[in-house]
Amino acid sequence: MIQSIFANSPAPPPARALWILRAAHLGMCFGVRGAIDLALAQNASPPLTILGELAHNGTVLAGLRARGLRMENRVEDVTTPAVMITAHGASDKKLRELRERGLRVLEGTCPLVHYAHRAVKTLVRENCHPVIIGRRDHVEVRGLTEDLAEFDVVLTESDVLGLTERPCFGVAAQTTQPIDRVRHLLGVMRRRFPRSEIRFIDTVCRPTKLRQESAVAVARQADVVIVVGGAHSNNTRELAAACAQHCGRVHQVETAAGLREEWFVEAASVGLTAGTSTPDWIVDGVEEWLRRYTRSNLASMEPS
Ligand code: SF4
Repeated sequence: MIQSIFANSPAPPPARALWILRAAHLGMCFGVRGAIDLALAQNASPPLTILGELAHNGTVLAGLRARGLRMENRVEDVTTPAVMITAHGASDKKLRELRERGLRVLEGTCPLVHYAHRAVKTLVRENCHPVIIGRRDHVEVRGLTEDLAEFDVVLTESDVLGLTERPCFGVAAQTTQPIDRVRHLLGVMRRRFPRSEIRFIDTVCRPTKLRQESAVAVARQADVVIVVGGAHSNNTRELAAACAQHCGRVHQVETAAGLREEWFVEAASVGLTAGTSTPDWIVDGVEEWLRRYTRSNLASMEPS
């Protein structure tokens, strides 16, 4: 049974070895990977600047800068003839503004973020008041809402309870929100506004759902969970929060350099998961650190 849940954990090893439960789905998603590949392929012709962070991971960003990629947070600082939108997408208003400045715009927007944009447009066309479940200050949510005349963004029950009644609410979510939170807030909304029609389009992306499910599966089994991802990565923080509901010892690191031996004292098993901006080589580095730790533990037990 365990083999079907975890990627590489055929059976518990002998006592004192750390049993590593690597989540079946973890790490960089196709959307972020595609945007990075596009940026690297297009970087030379003509030179371009990435607007914002291609991946919410400092180590990944440093590596991309070392390969010659320029990144700026403000359009005023762009000095290249071309600019690229990250996988998180942008509003039509923002795209227009960039083109009006004479910039060639390259879209690295993930297809599943495009789907979320179309969903919101559909709900507005059907005369529903748009409500986005997500983080108001997140780049993807800004892209989803900047074209709207009026909208609400909610993340908590109290946000939902503070909404004004409307004949119809049209609900969509930031693609990286945990689906359980989205369903919960929809339930709160339906109870709070029994006279309103509430239409929902599920825009939480499949890679996020799979990573959340797999992370919870390992957290239920493990004494310690390591979540690998950038400190500012929303989906990584959500993975850590989901794991913390099932395991009392959850730690988030950006790379293996952040691991501490004292976290594993008296632990027999460790779960391993990673956010959607974390490349395989960083996850593999963390797993290798755990294997080395186990080997040195076993060696210290051998009779001299
Ligand atoms: Fe696309 Fe989902 Fe990855 Fe965002 S997290 S880039 S929506 S696959």
